[in-house]
Amino acid sequence: MALPPVPVTRNSDGADPHWPLGPRHVDLFKENFRPARRLDPFRSYVYGHRNGDFSDSPPDGGSIEPWKVLVLYSTEPDLYLDCDLLLDGKQKITGGSHGWRHMQFRILGMRFGMGRESFLHQREMAARAFREGHDYWGWRYLSRCTHYLADLGNPFHVSVVPAELLLRHLFSRRRLLLKLTAAHHGYEVFVERRFREGQPSFREALMYGAAEGRDCSDDPIAMLDSYMQRAHRRMKPILHYFLDQFGKELVDVFMTMDHGSDVDASEQTKLCSGKAADVIFSDRHRSSLSFLDRATDEIFIDVGRMLGSLINGFAPLQR
Ligand SMILES: [Zn+2]
Repeated sequence: MALPPVPVTRNSDGADPHWPLGPRHVDLFKENFRPARRLDPFRSYVYGHRNGDFSDSPPDGGSIEPWKVLVLYSTEPDLYLDCDLLLDGKQKITGGSHGWRHMQFRILGMRFGMGRESFLHQREMAARAFREGHDYWGWRYLSRCTHYLADLGNPFHVSVVPAELLLRHLFSRRRLLLKLTAAHHGYEVFVERRFREGQPSFREALMYGAAEGRDCSDDPIAMLDSYMQRAHRRMKPILHYFLDQFGKELVDVFMTMDHGSDVDASEQTKLCSGKAADVIFSDRHRSSLSFLDRATDEIFIDVGRMLGSLINGFAPLQR
C-alpha cells in the first residue's frame, strides 16, 4: 500500500488473436469517479450498474496508487471482457464464453472450462507490462489475474454436479440445470450481500490467509492443484445446503432462465439476483446462514493465501 502512485495510461497492447476480448468490452477508467446515482447496495446486483459514470479515456496527467488499481478493476472480468466469444464447442455447459474462462471442472472424466489458463494468461500479461515499464497496466492485468485466481477457489467454479445428482436427473435436464444454477448463483448472491453488510469474519479470513501467503515463498502455480481440489471438495455440502434450506422457493426464482438462449447465462442470472437475495436473506432463513458463513470463512483463508502469494511474487518487480 506504500507504493507511490503510477501515471494512468491508455493500454497500448493491440488485439491478441490467441486471447480475444469480448466485442462489447471497453477499457473504462475509474480514476475520475463522478457520482451519478445512488444504488441500494442490498438491491443492486448487476455489475454494470454503478453509482458513478466512468470515462473511456485516461484522465489528463492523472495518477493512482497501485493498491487502488488492484481493488477497482478486479470485477472487470465479470463485465464484458469474456462475453459473446466462441471459445469452445462445449461452452454451452458453462453458460457461454464468460463461464468458460472463469471455471474449470470435470464431468465423467471430460474437462470443461479454462479458468486456470485465464489466470496464467493475465499473470503473464501483468509480468510483461511491468517488464516493459507499463506499470499502470501491470497493475490492471494483475487485478484481473486476482479475479481468476479467486474464481478457482470458488467451489462452484471447479465442480458443478455431484455424480449421484446427475444420475438422478438423467431425464429431467432442465430441472437439474435450474437446481445447479440456483445453488451456484444463490451462493454468489449470498457472498456478495455479506460483503456489502461488512461481514467481519470474511475480512479476517482473507487477511489471515493473505498474510500467510505473503510470508511463504511458495509459487501460487505450485499450489494451484491442491487449492482447486480443496475448493472442489467444498462444493457438495454447500450445494446440498442450498437445496435443503431454500429448495423450490429459490429454484423458482431462476425459472425465467433460458438455457438454450444465446444470451450469456451470467447476464441472465444477474437479473434474478435481487429475488434470490430476498429468499436467502428473508427473516425465516437469516438465523440459519451461519453454516454458509463458516464454510465461506474457510474458503477465504485459502483464497487470501493464494492472492497473498501471487502479489508477493510481483514484489521484486517493484524494487
Ligand atoms: Zn468470475
